[in-house]
Amino acid sequence: MSSDVIVVGGGPTGVMLAGELRLQGVRVLVVDRDPEPTRVVRALGLHARSIEVLDQRGLLDRFLPLGTRYPVAGFFAGIDKPAPDRLDTAHPYVLGIPQPTTERLLTEHAIELGVEIRRGCDVVGLSQDDSGVTVDLADGTQLRSRYLVGCDGGRSTVRKLLGVGFPGEPARREWLSGEVEVTAPPEEVTAVVTEVRRTQRGFGVGPSGEGLYRVVVPAEGVTEDRAILPTLEEVKQRLQVVAGTDFGVHSPRWLSRFGDATRQAERYRTGRVLLAGDAAHIHPPTGGQGLNLGLQDAVNLGWKLAAEVVGWAPEGLLDSYETERHPVGADVLNTSRAQAELLSTEPGPQAVRRLVAELMDFDEVNRYLVEKISAIGVRYDVGEGHRLLGRRLRDVAVGRGRLYALMHRGRGLLLDRTGRLSVAGWDDRVDHVIDVSEELEVPAALLRPDGHVAWVGDDQQDLLRSLPTWFGAAAR
Ligand SMILES: Cc1cc2nc3c(=O)[nH]c(=O)nc-3n(C[C@H](O)[C@H](O)[C@H](O)COP(=O)(O)OP(=O)(O)OC[C@H]3O[C@@H](n4cnc5c(N)ncnc54)[C@H](O)[C@@H]3O)c2cc1C
Repeated sequence: MSSDVIVVGGGPTGVMLAGELRLQGVRVLVVDRDPEPTRVVRALGLHARSIEVLDQRGLLDRFLPLGTRYPVAGFFAGIDKPAPDRLDTAHPYVLGIPQPTTERLLTEHAIELGVEIRRGCDVVGLSQDDSGVTVDLADGTQLRSRYLVGCDGGRSTVRKLLGVGFPGEPARREWLSGEVEVTAPPEEVTAVVTEVRRTQRGFGVGPSGEGLYRVVVPAEGVTEDRAILPTLEEVKQRLQVVAGTDFGVHSPRWLSRFGDATRQAERYRTGRVLLAGDAAHIHPPTGGQGLNLGLQDAVNLGWKLAAEVVGWAPEGLLDSYETERHPVGADVLNTSRAQAELLSTEPGPQAVRRLVAELMDFDEVNRYLVEKISAIGVRYDVGEGHRLLGRRLRDVAVGRGRLYALMHRGRGLLLDRTGRLSVAGWDDRVDHVIDVSEELEVPAALLRPDGHVAWVGDDQQDLLRSLPTWFGAAAR
């Protein structure tokens, strides 16, 4: 085996996961069907938890200069309310950044860490036994590794080969999208778009930079195969029907189509094969959560799978990927369905929308929804106790600077204000930082490599009961 883990799919989830695995010393091969990275711009932004995750790995400085910061407002079903004050994050904004840029930066990081990425490799078959997984590529090549992760998108071949069910709702609506040039003057485009959007929410034509316009227009029906790209003629015809003009669209850089199917994989693990990102869950883009969810799957899975490969994983650690992430995915799907209802122009949903908008004037409601969409409210079930347990910590000040700066290597971390605790026996996996500033509201906290709190307290014996749960047996 030339690699420990094969990641199928070099989209955002796959390259983020590859970087996380490599950080722990695992040999990773990413294979992707496409010979080149796609130019199609799907996601347009990153929410607070993804920004935090990039910061935890020392990557944020690469992203900030290439993005635009927007207030965390108006994301839940497009309901226009101001962002709540003092969100519990050092990054209370949305970072507008096109998906191809996110993918490029994550790919560069993964390659710098030593990940091998092979393009033009179409996975068509797979089998597994007690010691590993064998993958068949379309050109007849076979690859083998100890584990495999399907990060191969919503139509995941890996998921289908495993026979894992993908229950949910099929697409009922479809949209055409693309980046094009227009001949209509900008003021005419704005005036027509404003008028059409009074009655059509899933419509937009707006500047996307470098003289291009991003177009989103409802399709006539739902195609059998969304992999078949729309033609410029089809886009023009739909613009004529919906807006009464085609704005003189021409010279497309790319054209694509997407639907509103909402589905989640029945399970995320089948033996040595796991699923992450869109391969595990799909939903309409309202709220802008899909890519973010995939990045956070990757950060939850990476250290656990690496622990299994390296050999220190405690019983059940790898399975906790599904136990923790499946409910988070289900919740995003739920929020996405609710938003789809609130965007309907029917009188009933419109009345509910008005009511939800009124409720969002209560700070707690607004905050709850923002924490949900931005994923800073996610809490894993790591047991009863202090309210911080299972949650991620925001980037607090510590004696030596900032917390997130101590997390770049993806190790566990004991933040200790008592100076009396010890991680002896686990110091090859867990760092120990004494002298933490007042911003930490507990005597000590044990953080997992993904930044979530596994333990809080001040008692060494209690800590010794928690360390093996997350970090395996002590070294002799
Ligand atoms: C119009 C639109 C707007 C969106 N806006 C947002 C947004 O604002 N915010 C947000 O968070 N999300 C958004 N999303 C969702 C986001 O684009 C996806 O959630 C994200 O791309 C998922 O990443 P992924 O890596 O899991 O899968 P993908 O990005 O789909 O990557 C899968 C990769 O696997 C490869 N692959 C597939 N099959 C094989 C095979 N058999 N063998 C080898 N390789 C294979 C593909 O070539 C591809 O590179 C939007 C989606 C759409 C359609």
